[in-house]
Amino acid sequence: MGFLRILTGWVFGYVLVATAHAGAYLPEMDRFLSYGQRALDAGHMEAARAATDVILLGEVRYALAEGPSEAREVLKAAMREWEVATDGEVRFVEVPANEAQITIGWANELRFRSLEAGGVARWQRAVRRDGDGLRGEVSATIELRLRVPSGRRLNSDQLMQCALHEIGHILGLDDSSARGEAMGPLDLRRPITRLSDGDLSALRELRSRAWNLRDIVTQAEALAMNRP
Ligand SMILES: [Zn+2]
Repeated sequence: MGFLRILTGWVFGYVLVATAHAGAYLPEMDRFLSYGQRALDAGHMEAARAATDVILLGEVRYALAEGPSEAREVLKAAMREWEVATDGEVRFVEVPANEAQITIGWANELRFRSLEAGGVARWQRAVRRDGDGLRGEVSATIELRLRVPSGRRLNSDQLMQCALHEIGHILGLDDSSARGEAMGPLDLRRPITRLSDGDLSALRELRSRAWNLRDIVTQAEALAMNRP
């Protein structure tokens, strides 16, 4: 069966292009779930497991550009929020740039598709061949904005939502049109500094689907091992 490779950029605008839903995962994640299911049905356990790796992630190695120390602390706090939300299944680990899956930088100005953006994440998810085996992997670059268009610094709460939001994309979540969600639009007067029920339910739905598939793969592999 073929390998799956999806390249996507996403926007986090001050003005959100309305989407019809609140708290959802990215449609592309369904492609990995169905790829994994098809692989399972065809007996390709390794491909099925790799598809779940793309979603469940585990350890995520990131490199962080030099920047204001306060902004770096906010980013790390945002990572901790998401780690807790996954019950510690996802762990962000800072590494040198040449070992990183995700590179994170800072910008005074950011635009995406001609809109002012609070952050921009570009990611790639893939199941690919690695030596003799198949591997599911995610790589990304994230840019976070430090100043509003007037030149004033984003405060730590505003920066927190930008960081939560872009990391949410890395975990597979979609933009939301709902106010009050980290994955929703940034309202500079009321930034979201904690994950909302909508953010968390989208995350749990996605991860529980991936875990269901992973559990079946694990059982099937155990059965195959026990076969004489
Ligand atoms: Zn977004």
